[in-house]
Amino acid sequence: MSKITVEDIAQAGIVGAGGAGFPTHVKFSAKADTVLINAAECEPLLHKDKEVLRAHADEVLAGLAVGMELAGAERGIVGIKEKYQDVIDLLRPRLARGMEIAPLADAYPAGDEFILVYEVLHRVIPPGGIPLDVGAVVTNVETALNISRADRQPVTEKFVSVAGAVAQPVTLRVPVGITLAECVAAAGGPTIADPNYVVGGVMMGYLEDNHDALVDKRTGGVIVLPDDHVVVRRRRQDWQQIARIGRSACDQCSFCTELCPRYLLGHPIEPHRAMRSLEFNLVGEANVLGTAYCCECNLCSLYSCPEDLDPKSVCVQNKARLAAEKKRWENPPFVPRRPELHMANRKAPMARLLQKLGLRQFRNVGPLVEELLDTPKVGIALTQHIGVPCEPAVAAGDSVVKGQVVGRRPVANGRPALGAPVHASIDGVVSAIEDNTVWIRKE
Ligand code: SF4
Ligand code: SF4
Repeated sequence: MSKITVEDIAQAGIVGAGGAGFPTHVKFSAKADTVLINAAECEPLLHKDKEVLRAHADEVLAGLAVGMELAGAERGIVGIKEKYQDVIDLLRPRLARGMEIAPLADAYPAGDEFILVYEVLHRVIPPGGIPLDVGAVVTNVETALNISRADRQPVTEKFVSVAGAVAQPVTLRVPVGITLAECVAAAGGPTIADPNYVVGGVMMGYLEDNHDALVDKRTGGVIVLPDDHVVVRRRRQDWQQIARIGRSACDQCSFCTELCPRYLLGHPIEPHRAMRSLEFNLVGEANVLGTAYCCECNLCSLYSCPEDLDPKSVCVQNKARLAAEKKRWENPPFVPRRPELHMANRKAPMARLLQKLGLRQFRNVGPLVEELLDTPKVGIALTQHIGVPCEPAVAAGDSVVKGQVVGRRPVANGRPALGAPVHASIDGVVSAIEDNTVWIRKE
């Protein structure tokens, strides 16, 4: 019987390492019949999850076992692309009772948890819902690894894929609080004169113009791209430009809707109708209200639309407007649209996505370097999670050791707020606490 508890997970500061940053102890305070490890890793050029699984298979599966026990789940499933047969072969003999592998197609967005839960369990999470609504808890590979260590090692390290226009695409093991530029330098540096950093992934990530921005517990990857790359140009379009071109060029072909993964699940979202809101004030219409359930996967904008329009940004704008006007979809009884009829033949194959995004020119590899990257200084952000920012637990001038709490969850009404503590990732001295960050320098 595992001795790791929900409180151990909370104290270790574990949050979703796949980008969301939801505090993991909250997820595992609930009961579910299935715990699902999301190893789909569908963002192009990222390799960290499969590399972590290959190098730390026993610990990841131990984390899955802990999760199953805490959730009271009888099934534990690793969802991984079937093309990673070597990793599947490595995992199979290690699976404990109740565990299994779910091989996935090499398509995008296989790692969206709504899609993953449907593909693996054939259950449809309702619009605005969470996997728990259908009896599942979904967790990232690295999060499972962190759970397996929760009773002895807080989260002070991160695995980060560095890809694109770098000399040596790689998966690094780095201290939390190192800069993106240090990660790129460790990958041999940029091979172009005008590097742009896309953080998190080319589909769902963001452009980060501050190359000294900090890696935190949620950072999964940094992709280096030149100024004239289609992904960078699309990200730099301003809203006026997007709206003007969308208004004049959308022919309502509805390809964006026909390939929208959430539409295919039966959710009330039809991006081609959202495009009409550029021309008409339709924001109160049910189909526009449904854009609140867009997961911002970007498939419609970067893959489906033959005119290279940006329905995803229109959905994002509509979402903000709906929130400001306090309008919401009224949630009629949810009837899934029999996804089995369409899901199989409307997936976006990874090979075609790489081609469409102009990513074939980059090496699609990311071997793991297990040696921890060294740095003289880190910045530990006090917000690395969904919830309330941490309060500093140290002061400038204090000596700290790796693993020490430097930011704690505030307490309200006698209970810690939603969030996760943050810890020093190197030994050193607190040089400053500013910009919501505890800065630590090696002595
Ligand atoms: S796919 Fe493009 S052109 Fe077609 S309806 Fe959608 S936004 Fe308009
Ligand atoms: S970004 Fe586009 S394809 Fe993805 S969920 Fe939103 S509307 Fe659908």
